[in-house]
Amino acid sequence: MLIVSNWKAYVEDTERAKSLYSLAKRLSKKTKHEIVLGPSAPHLGLLALKNKSKVKFAAQDVSVTTGGAHTGEISAQIFADLDLSYVMVGHSERRAAGETDAVVAEKARHVLAHGLSPILCVGERERDEGAGYLSFVRNQIGSVFSKLSQKEQLATVIAYEPVWAIGRTAADALPARDLGEMVLYIRKVVGEYLPGKAPTRTKILYGGSVEPGDARELASGSGIDGFLVGHASVDPTMFTGIIRALS
Ligand code: PEP
Repeated sequence: MLIVSNWKAYVEDTERAKSLYSLAKRLSKKTKHEIVLGPSAPHLGLLALKNKSKVKFAAQDVSVTTGGAHTGEISAQIFADLDLSYVMVGHSERRAAGETDAVVAEKARHVLAHGLSPILCVGERERDEGAGYLSFVRNQIGSVFSKLSQKEQLATVIAYEPVWAIGRTAADALPARDLGEMVLYIRKVVGEYLPGKAPTRTKILYGGSVEPGDARELASGSGIDGFLVGHASVDPTMFTGIIRALS
């Protein structure tokens, strides 16, 4: 499985960043799962450049611009030069700050143009009785996939993160049965863009209060390929617990 941690701005000191990286290196030696760390951009520079371990790195966001006179922006080329593997685009916390689907699509294109894989975050704000959340997620995927070639679509990871389940506890995560249905639905949507390609080739992650207490159940039988983990990824005990629960 692909386990991506999103440190957000939780980790604000270098020593803590280094210690979480050491933990990830130790865990990666004992597990078959792919561990990807998503630190802040300065900590990425510090950790990713020297990395010789199995641990991989993801940026939490990227500029919609390319290089040049754009003060404060971090372009996809800068991340490519650091040897990252993934870049998250369209995280709900970026969308809440005003990021539109068009901007998310443009960011995904920059990421792909530099040989990195975007982790496209999608997910409804709430679940309505009429299942409008399905078309909401379909539109979020479609607004990006419609701007990508098939090759680029195949290199894109989708992280399904229902906004209402983020930053809470295991008890509030999406029930495993509902996750299984959503994974099937997302594979159907992806399959419409990739006719003739096995829809199982696309990696789909789940994010939203993944903790040691729910990881195994969410993983078994849902068809998910991995997790995007927020608050539990910066707690050494919880992060270790998640990896152990999946082993
Ligand atoms: C996230 O915001 O990407 C996330 C998954 O957060 P949490 O695990 O804290 O719900």
